[in-house]
Amino acid sequence: MQRKIIHLLAVLTLTLSCSRDYVTGKRTFNLITEDQEVAMGREADPQILAEYGVYEDEQLTAWLAGIGEEIARVSHRPNLKYTFRIVDSPVVNAFALPGGWVYFTRGILAHFNSEDELAGVLGHEVGHIVARHGAEQLSRTQLAMLGINLGSLFSERFSRFSGLAETTVSLLFLKFSRDQESESDVLGVEYATRLGYDAHKMANFFHTIARLSQKSGSSLPGFLSTHPNPENREERVHQLAEEWRQKVAFQPRKTSREAYLRRINGIIYGQDPRQGFVENGMFYHPVMRFKFPLPQGWSVNNTPRMVQIVSPQQDAVIQFQLADAATPDEAADAFLASTRQTVISRDDRRLRGFPAVSLETKISSETESLRVQAWFIQKDNRVFAFYGFCASENYKKFQPQFTRTMRGFNRETNPSVLNRKPKRVRIRTVPAQGSFESVMRRLGVRGKAIDELALLNGVERDTVLKKGDLVKTISE
Ligand SMILES: [Zn+2]
Repeated sequence: MQRKIIHLLAVLTLTLSCSRDYVTGKRTFNLITEDQEVAMGREADPQILAEYGVYEDEQLTAWLAGIGEEIARVSHRPNLKYTFRIVDSPVVNAFALPGGWVYFTRGILAHFNSEDELAGVLGHEVGHIVARHGAEQLSRTQLAMLGINLGSLFSERFSRFSGLAETTVSLLFLKFSRDQESESDVLGVEYATRLGYDAHKMANFFHTIARLSQKSGSSLPGFLSTHPNPENREERVHQLAEEWRQKVAFQPRKTSREAYLRRINGIIYGQDPRQGFVENGMFYHPVMRFKFPLPQGWSVNNTPRMVQIVSPQQDAVIQFQLADAATPDEAADAFLASTRQTVISRDDRRLRGFPAVSLETKISSETESLRVQAWFIQKDNRVFAFYGFCASENYKKFQPQFTRTMRGFNRETNPSVLNRKPKRVRIRTVPAQGSFESVMRRLGVRGKAIDELALLNGVERDTVLKKGDLVKTISE
């Protein structure tokens, strides 16, 4: 996959073509043709889905896509085919790939407080596609990249070997420039206003974004790290909203906060423990019913495709994933065939009754040498694979930690783990007029959770709510 992208990018650098600037209508030299833009998006889309997973809510997805289509039709590239998806991530972000692919996380959907906010951000993302920002960024990125910087989570030395430690997708989360952000804000306001949405609400949402602390520990970056704030963003969006109302004979559309909240009632909030979670130094997977211990102080990145566990100095990594094999032996053979390496030891064993194969190997290149410890373990007709990588000179230090994690793999039977449920946004009715804080207390919310909910509702602690208003709360 990684190689394919690099190849595609390499081809793209060599292609100069004349194309139209869709916003100004001028002919400009652009590195990339529309067909190539579409090819980039089409190739990257399955990787995004494999890495982050689709949020399965047909109704919400269809509704989002409906508004997306309307925006696309009033945009400067109405004939492009657009695809709108919801990604199963708690991170608050939206992003666009060249050629017409737009993604909203379930996290951003939980944080909107109206359809107008959503339409503004949709307009902004479609704006990036219209103005070919992604294609521009990619053609710029690829130049840097041919010098090779894969922007990996951990030391790039691991990503060069075997394709096991690939982090291709991080490359797709392009960081736009502030100028591109400004341009997309303008387009977003225009498109939303043409459809009768209140673009002032888009500014409100940027305010919410600014209040969100950028939580780390997730492989998907937050909104501000991919869409950096241009100066005075909120103020400027308010201004633009006024300007565009004058320009387009504004016909306000009937939307309400209540209608939006009802649509997202029940949306999953935060991490979904059913996809695996970390607690007390252990990684648990309630659906596949296993657990294993984590090395102390290492960071964990859990995606649908794999769990990556990275040492504090990023000089060792343990990767855990499903092996595409029927037996541990087959999985070990496939791994050995995937990369040239020297086998130091290979043992057939049983681990707590599970058939297993353990391997120690060495991967050498001209410049360096890596040591690998791998375990392939069969449980319930699945083969799980652990790969621990580090530089040979560090193997003494990391080997005990690799072994402890991999040998610690075990079945999980504890019902409190197996029955773990995700938290969801639940819409409640305000029982009596009062400040947001007092309403939350009446609903049984205490402490810091009140601040989190104020942010989620786009209000302050002292904002006054009326009896009968709807509010978002969080519970199972
Ligand atoms: Zn942006």
